[in-house]
Amino acid sequence: MRALITGGAGFIGSHLAEALLARGDDVFILDDLSTGSVENVRHLKNNPKFHYVFDSLQNRHLLAEMVDESDVVFHLAAAVGVRLIVESPVRTIETNVNGTQLVLDAASKKRKLVFTASTSEVYGKSTNVPFCEDSDLVLGATTKGRWSYAASKALDEFLGLSYWKEKKVPVIVARFFNTVGPRQTGRYGMVLPNFVSQALAGAPITVFGTGKQSRCFCHVHDAVEAVIRLVDSGRAVGEVVNVGSDQEITIEQLAQSVKERAESSSEIVYFPYDQAYEPGFEDMLRRVPSLKKLFTITQFSPRASLQAIIDSVIAHFRDKRKPLGEVETPVFLPRTANEAGEAVAP
Ligand code: UDP
Repeated sequence: MRALITGGAGFIGSHLAEALLARGDDVFILDDLSTGSVENVRHLKNNPKFHYVFDSLQNRHLLAEMVDESDVVFHLAAAVGVRLIVESPVRTIETNVNGTQLVLDAASKKRKLVFTASTSEVYGKSTNVPFCEDSDLVLGATTKGRWSYAASKALDEFLGLSYWKEKKVPVIVARFFNTVGPRQTGRYGMVLPNFVSQALAGAPITVFGTGKQSRCFCHVHDAVEAVIRLVDSGRAVGEVVNVGSDQEITIEQLAQSVKERAESSSEIVYFPYDQAYEPGFEDMLRRVPSLKKLFTITQFSPRASLQAIIDSVIAHFRDKRKPLGEVETPVFLPRTANEAGEAVAP
């Protein structure tokens, strides 16, 4: 199979490239390196079946050519990470909506199979856990920047499903739930790499809000296997499918586990959301996927335990073998009281 991965130098994209190459596929990646990194794919460059182009999806001729050369397009290029979304909402909306439209348009000419990545963010503030693919989406007000990500991804889903319905372009939509693992950077606010880099640097581990909010973390290898099985199954076209794990953990429990597994002396500190993100920031208390549909289509359930997941991320940060003090900086530090215009956090 010849696979094109947009966002192939990103966290999930680079693991997907690796897995497809391992089974003998030809892999082409297209990545503008806005949030992806050459480092993520450097080890693949000598593989004769691996081809990379560092350019934008906006280069329509290039995109058309690369799509034509492929049997399947994995569209993973997107603006991700709550911090990026809160700080750069225009970029988030434009990247997500325009990018998907360009890919679908290019794929429609020869009806190429498109796997497109959506997110559990689309369930928004719904409290109806576990989230099923046909459940209602409950988004907050448009004045609250966070929801622009969910809305842009929901629009991507509508676009994908409409290309299938109206133009018979085979499209699969997957909603990823908190995918984590080696190579994920904390730069865009994701909690696990942030906690691990903080713990290894002996810096305070920053829990936002009460820490009672929960998430289900899925190892990227499990997520990638689910993705490949969905595409191979031939039964996921025109469907929306949750991809994730259903092992739930609160963020303060996660902080504690990271601290223990990293044998860190870091203290765990709490910051209000206003200070961590922006005034009026809304978080969701629980986010748990129903994995019934994924299992029905693929007979696959994620395997990695939470402990194994945390250990793999710690090992990754340690493997960078940087001298002490140069561990990836705990990048998502809440703003100072002055910047936030509020009282100092506890
Ligand atoms: N979070 C935290 N400390 C951090 C980064 C994130 O407590 O340094 C919290 C965040 O507020 C959210 C959860 O961890 O409740 C998961 O955040 P992430 O950005 O990884 O993913 P989300 O589930 O929000 O998309």
